[in-house]
Amino acid sequence: MQYLRGVGLERAKKLSKLGIATLEDLVRHVPREHDDRSQTTPIGSLEAEMKATVRGRVVSMRQRRFGGGRAKSVITATIGDGSGWVEAEFWNQRWRADQLCDGTDVILTGRVTWERNGPRMTSPEVETLADGNDPEAAEENLLHSGRIVPIHHLTQGIPVTRMRAIVWRALPHVVDALEDPLPDALRTQREFPSLAHALRWIHFPHTMAERDAALQRLKYDELLVLQVALARRRLRHETEEKPHRIVVTQRLDERIRARFPFALTNAQNRCVGEIADDLTAPRPMNRLLQGDVGSGKTAVAAYGMLIAVAHKLQAAIVTPTEILAEQHFTTLSTYLAGSQVRIELVTGNQRSKKRRETLARIAAHDVDIAIGTHALFQQDVEFAKLAFVVVDEQHKFGVLQRAALRDKGIAADMLVMSATPIPRTLTMTLFGDLDVSVIDELPPGRQPVQTVLCREGDRRQAYDWVRREIGRGRRAFHVCPLVERSEELPLRAAVDFADELRAGPFRSVGVGLLHGRMKSAEKDAAMEAFRSGATPVLVCTSVVEVGVDVPEATVLIVEHAERFGLAQLHQLRGRIGRGRDASRMICFHNAHTPDARARLQALAATTDGFKIAEEDLRIRGPGEFLGTRQSGLPELRLANLITDATLLTQARADAFELIERDPGLRREGAALGHALARTLAARPG
Ligand code: ADP
Ligand code: MG
Repeated sequence: MQYLRGVGLERAKKLSKLGIATLEDLVRHVPREHDDRSQTTPIGSLEAEMKATVRGRVVSMRQRRFGGGRAKSVITATIGDGSGWVEAEFWNQRWRADQLCDGTDVILTGRVTWERNGPRMTSPEVETLADGNDPEAAEENLLHSGRIVPIHHLTQGIPVTRMRAIVWRALPHVVDALEDPLPDALRTQREFPSLAHALRWIHFPHTMAERDAALQRLKYDELLVLQVALARRRLRHETEEKPHRIVVTQRLDERIRARFPFALTNAQNRCVGEIADDLTAPRPMNRLLQGDVGSGKTAVAAYGMLIAVAHKLQAAIVTPTEILAEQHFTTLSTYLAGSQVRIELVTGNQRSKKRRETLARIAAHDVDIAIGTHALFQQDVEFAKLAFVVVDEQHKFGVLQRAALRDKGIAADMLVMSATPIPRTLTMTLFGDLDVSVIDELPPGRQPVQTVLCREGDRRQAYDWVRREIGRGRRAFHVCPLVERSEELPLRAAVDFADELRAGPFRSVGVGLLHGRMKSAEKDAAMEAFRSGATPVLVCTSVVEVGVDVPEATVLIVEHAERFGLAQLHQLRGRIGRGRDASRMICFHNAHTPDARARLQALAATTDGFKIAEEDLRIRGPGEFLGTRQSGLPELRLANLITDATLLTQARADAFELIERDPGLRREGAALGHALARTLAARPG
């Protein structure tokens, strides 16, 4: 890298800050935009405020200095082209004096201002035209002007012209040596340029159409690799066969339903039907269950688990937090009271003796349903006959983690559940290997949650409301962004705030405390006291964000709401409005930025999880929204899952067809297989 002319050790270091370590990285450093400088303007026709490229000769050059503490200098060159003169002015760039000697031919690009004596460009981009005796220099003529020029992302110490020049020099060394991952047939069919052309054109296109074609091709490559990864995973599922057979009789169906204290909604019934079909099929299920917060996913999962258990198989449900594991344990224990089903809890905080005992029971098939946090993924956890795996709140887990748990089973059926509604094109991408069931209906009798945005001045009124609700036997969550007060962030912290409330506004009501740094037993006790009503106000952090289900809770206060993401606020809001009483979310905020304001307004405007997700996607962009980093899928650098949906659909179709023809990626897909291996190796985490 550092041996490329114009790079050297220093610059190589600087480039590494941009993630550029090799010549290939350099030519894959796609410009953020292009500037069409193919048209030059005669100097005589320049006008004020124009952004223009002119070509001419330096006719005179002046250098002035200003004294004072730190001396300043101005260099002014006058450039003429026969149609007029323009001044180019540079502050504190004394080296320009050597660059712009009289008689030098130059091309300038910049914005024009109008001065008393005519047009001026301040700090324009300058290209000096070599006299043609130095062939290498002559070749680089017209790199920065007189054409469509690339504008690259830069790092400190590498100016835009330098970057352009080193990319230019790197191109011929690399592009023809790179293996083109696209199978020829596919490339011809989709009318894409070759990789070598695409890389040349993405930097130095002759026309904008060439640039666009190159960009499409490079984006398509990314999407294709992603889809091929998914297609292969899917194929793997499809070739597996379950060692057991499951039959769902009407009698079994009725027996399971009788365990729930409610009748399933139509949407739940449909999903249960889809799951039952999958369970009875010879191939393992891979299904995503989507449903907004409070739509009743737990019951659907429980139905599936009980089918497995009825066939003398084991089931497991894994949750992102201990509180949620605990809650599922309690819920299922209630449903199954008086039955023979044996349930156990596995969390990271259990003492080693208890843990060893539990694990031994799971391995010996003395446990039918194991509920736990990612402690369940751990190596020492062995199941005797794990056939049904549920991953709750999947967005908190990566794809690889999902796979790890699945591998503990015997070609296990897998149900992943998510409350984050994901637009269709994204589902296709992140869960391209999964079938999808949707609970698009809330249980009957729910009242929509009202969301109010408040400022500090509304606090007394908000507390009055809380006391009123508590007087009626209800509960209130009070969410703070921090556990403990910190020096750097002057924010309300749960621990201190709980004390404040106990001493002040909620003296006469019980105030509990719940946060992630508490011991398991303390968390359980706090949750229990809140459920029972002993402490009807629960000061907490976002640990309650996922899954917590206390139907009596009708108030949720969020402190510093501007510090939470939109999806997160929606999840938090899902903690209330779970019973039949009207509920209210009160957001105290101090939103200064337009983004923060947009988030809160979107939150107040709708309770529809799909709309929230779309809005979130719009505000944050797909990268962060999806958290591809933790999803375990390759990151997309160029393609955008929303705006490039058409390309995504094409790539998906092509990938699945290709994998059908060449499942091992050994023949026509060989080069693509190499690209996939490289991407997976480079995957973060
Ligand atoms: P989520 O989809 O957010 O995980 P839960 O499974 O926690 O939702 O269910 C939310 C609440 O709705 C729980 O209190 C549950 O008992 C209740 N519930 C679920 N299904 C029904 C139903 N069909 N009828 C009435 N209440 C239901
Ligand atoms: Mg849930």
